[in-house]
Amino acid sequence: MVDIGLFGLLVVAIAAGFFLGWRQRGRRLQQDDRHFGPKYFKGLSYLLNDEADSAVDAFIDSLEVNPDTLETHLALGNLLRRKGEVAKATRIHQNLLARPSLTTQQLHEAQLELARDFIRAGLLDRAEGLLQELVDVNSQYKAEALGHLIEIYQDEKDWGKAIESANQLSLRRFGRQAAGERAIARAHFCCELAEDAMEQNDMLAARRYLQNALGFDRQCVRASLLWGEMEHRLGNEREALKALHRVPHQDPELLVESLDLLCACYERLGDHRGLQRYLEELLAQYPSSSLVIKMAEQVRWARDDHAAADFIAEHLRRRPTIKLLNRAVELYLLHSEGRARDNLQLLKQLVDQVMTAKPSYHCKKCGFAGNQMHWLCPGCKTWGSITPITGVEGE
Ligand SMILES: [Zn+2]
Repeated sequence: MVDIGLFGLLVVAIAAGFFLGWRQRGRRLQQDDRHFGPKYFKGLSYLLNDEADSAVDAFIDSLEVNPDTLETHLALGNLLRRKGEVAKATRIHQNLLARPSLTTQQLHEAQLELARDFIRAGLLDRAEGLLQELVDVNSQYKAEALGHLIEIYQDEKDWGKAIESANQLSLRRFGRQAAGERAIARAHFCCELAEDAMEQNDMLAARRYLQNALGFDRQCVRASLLWGEMEHRLGNEREALKALHRVPHQDPELLVESLDLLCACYERLGDHRGLQRYLEELLAQYPSSSLVIKMAEQVRWARDDHAAADFIAEHLRRRPTIKLLNRAVELYLLHSEGRARDNLQLLKQLVDQVMTAKPSYHCKKCGFAGNQMHWLCPGCKTWGSITPITGVEGE
């Protein structure tokens, strides 16, 4: 069944096609030939019989391609793609490319639209070929083509090529916001390369990529975290801490992502006092549930479970979050007995259920929510837009 929107769209397109074709032919046809042509009625009858494919063919046949009618063809093709009718959109754009009557710029516009059809259809190789051509001939659509190439290389995890395309794009003028987003993306491409290098134990390359990442974006928390991880793996705890100490200045919202590694580095150095001092400093400036829990671990190590539980309970009064409640109940459970233990266990089950049902992270741009940290938002494909959720259900 052809849906009503698509039906209306094709009727309008065929009517417009007929009108424009009729207007042109009018110059060369006799007066009594000005009536609806057979292709127009054929197109309508295809629509009425739910034969949308044939209706698109009828549209292509009934409207000659020339500079005057190009916009109608492009508009229909793009609307079809947006409605998910990619094969039909592709036919319309391919038909345009086969017409020598168009100017070079118009052919490039059709080529860009065809590449977008291929991206939508998941035919990334074919899209890449068309887009690369537009870049190579320095087309008017070079910036758009580079933008799409970056998306393709991101999907294919070809970070080297993504950086290359982003570098070409950065040579062009953009607004401050667009330039900032490009810099953030390039920093993340370098972080991806650094992660690959670290996986292969090539720390020399990893260090170079991380330097590049911070060169693109000084505020790149991910680069500092990776740097810390790399130095920690090499046993250079002081260097690791230097990198991790940058995180709160880069983006305090992402501070919680550094805490596990931070504690591991201080502990390997045996510097519990240093860790406690640093956590206290952080808590005063950037309070969060995760920080309170980390500090409670220090209290537990220095004193006992009761003291740690009391420490959390005290903060719970000022900062009532599910996370803190959960940790306090866990600690109290360790030493409870009888009826009190049963009640605490019931409370723990309830808290667990709430925590499992609630996401821990969200995207500040599109609202995507999940329980895992993603550097690239799976919802809107923006780099670095996901942060831990704050408030009662989060930090
Ligand atoms: Zn998003």
